[in-house]
Order: sequence, then structure tokens, then C-alpha cells
Amino acid sequence: MHYAMLPIQDLQPLLQTPKKIFITTHHKPDGDAIGSMMGLYHYLVKKGHAITPVAPSEIPDFLMWIPGIEHALNYEAESKRAETALTEAEIVYCLDFNDYSRTKYMTESLAQAKAPKVLIDHHLMPKPVWDYGVSMPAKSSTCEMVYDYINLCGDNDLIDLNIASCLYTGVMTDTGSFRFPVTTASVHEMVADFMRKGLNHSPIHEAVYDSWGVKRMQFLGYVLLERMEIFPKYNAGLICLSKKDLKLFDVNTGDTEGLVNYPLSIGSVKFATMITERGDEVKLSFRSKGDFDVSTLARTYFNGGGHFNASGGTSKQSFEETITYFKEILSDIHPR
Ligand code: 5GP
Ligand code: MN
Repeated sequence: MHYAMLPIQDLQPLLQTPKKIFITTHHKPDGDAIGSMMGLYHYLVKKGHAITPVAPSEIPDFLMWIPGIEHALNYEAESKRAETALTEAEIVYCLDFNDYSRTKYMTESLAQAKAPKVLIDHHLMPKPVWDYGVSMPAKSSTCEMVYDYINLCGDNDLIDLNIASCLYTGVMTDTGSFRFPVTTASVHEMVADFMRKGLNHSPIHEAVYDSWGVKRMQFLGYVLLERMEIFPKYNAGLICLSKKDLKLFDVNTGDTEGLVNYPLSIGSVKFATMITERGDEVKLSFRSKGDFDVSTLARTYFNGGGHFNASGGTSKQSFEETITYFKEILSDIHPR
């Protein structure tokens, strides 16, 4: 498919002199969002530019060890500083999302920003609003695409341990630790390159996956026992988390990360859904195994989108109504 967006290499002439650059990613950022944003941050700093990395919302605890994270702004908490940086920016990079609305409260400002906007992303169906960029849904992660971009610029030798740690994080989280079908030979070649440059991968796995508090582990137990429903007839699993559930276990941003994958560990389950009542919104997460497309489903029924095997959306109905509606449509949409 062709989009009216110039190839990312056409940006090169602009980068020949130091620029003020704004880098952002999606709301409720995950490992790939923050990893790609901060990986690109370190690279562009090395190239002599002045960078402001901005996450649209809070960065989860399990990513607070990322090198340079202290330089990242949270738009929801520091919107004035972020707005100033966006107004003054000469280039805006948008990473790991392809629709302005994925930045939530930043949507309007981002749409109105005057600087050329650059997309680096691997979600399906990008909105045709970017000036430059690259959109490749077949790529494992935006982190892998930032690696390709650095190589395309002829700067592989600038990849240091900071950049490698950031990019490794996102490719690790988006491939489910190198097991999803998107884990190509190129992914392993990139990781091999990082390791030859001296990257120690174990501490990254530990920081991201083995840094839970006791309460989070107990919350997982509670969720699997009390809040997970399996529909054997439909090869489907559903987890529903109310505001009350989240409060009961002091659940923080990031603590629900990965929960939606658990039903898929059951052999017969090919489609997993998590419905979460969060603040004033009802959020849905979808995951699948094999050839069941959850991206179209999220777009059709829940105003969302994402990847073939991992997607999300929102509901305008109440939490309870959303659950009822989901169960109603399940008999039509389930994997056969
Ligand atoms: P998660 O379930 O981890 O929040 O999201 C899974 C995938 O679906 C991510 O790649 C994310 O970018 C995408 N996604 C999640 N929520 C939405 C949404 O509301 N709209 C769109 N377009 N994509 C979403
Ligand atoms: Mn991603």
C-alpha cells in the first residue's frame, strides 16, 4: 500500500545541521514505545541534536531503569514544558503508533505542530498524516526499525550500550522474549550485533520481568482464579478487571502488562481478551495465537487497532455493558 509519505532517508539533508527534535510515542507506553524513543534519543544526541523525548502518559516502573529515562517528560504531568518543546521543535519523530489519537491528551497539539513529522512504526493501517517515515507491519518492533534506521544512516558504529539496551528492551517485550512469529532471523542478527558490542541481556530480562512486588504477584493469582473466564466452545478466554479490583491490590501503571496473555497458555484457547475499567474509560486488549486476526476485530467493534495477533481498543459503554456486549458478539467473532 502506498502512503503520501516521503521515505525516511529523504530526511537526511535536514539532519546535516544540529536541530531541535521532539520524539514521542503512544499513551500508556510499553517496552517498545520507551525503548525505541530512548534508543533514538541517544543516537540523535550523539549526532549533535537537541532532543526532548516525551511520553504522553506515565512511564511504568518496570522501565524506569532505561538509560537516560530521567530526560524523558510525561506529558500528563509536565504538559507546559512538553508543549514548549513541541512548538520549538524543528523535527518531530513519532514512534510505535500511527494515529495521533494514540497520544490521547497530546493529540491536538501534535496534529497542529508545524515541524515536519516522521513516522517509524509497525502497526497496521497508518493514518496518512506524516511527512516522512517508514511503516512496516511485518517488523517485530519499532526498536528493530530504529536499529534499521541507524544502519540506513551508516551509523552502526555509533550503537553503544545505552542504545543497545534501549532497543533490546523493546524487541524483547514486543516478541514475547523472542517467541512470537514476528521473531525473524534479522531480529536475532540484531541481537547478535548488540551482544558482540558487549550487551549483557540478562539484567534487562530481570529488570523488566523479575522485579515484581509481592502484591502484584498476589494480584496475578487473584486475577487467574477469580477474574478469568474460559469459553471452551469458542476457543476463547476473558479477563475482566474493575476499578475495584485494581484498587484492592493497589495496581499501578504497568502492573496489568502481560495479563492478557495468560489465557493463551491454555492449549485450546486461541483468542484472549482483557477488559479493564480504568479511570473514566473502558479499555480492551486482544491477543491471539496463529491465524486469528484481532486487529480487524479491534477496529470493527472497539474503535481500536494494532497488530494481527495483538491489538486494543476502547468502549464508550460502561464496564458491565462492555462485558455483556463482548459476550454477545463472541459467538460471531471467535476463532473456529
Ligand atoms: P495493549 O493491549 O498492550 O494495550 O495493546 C496491544 C496493541 O494494540 C499495541 O500494539 C497497541 O499499540 C494497540 N492498541 C491498543 N489500544 C489501542 C487503541 O485504543 N487504538 C489503536 N489503534 N491501537 C491500540
Ligand atoms: Mn511496538
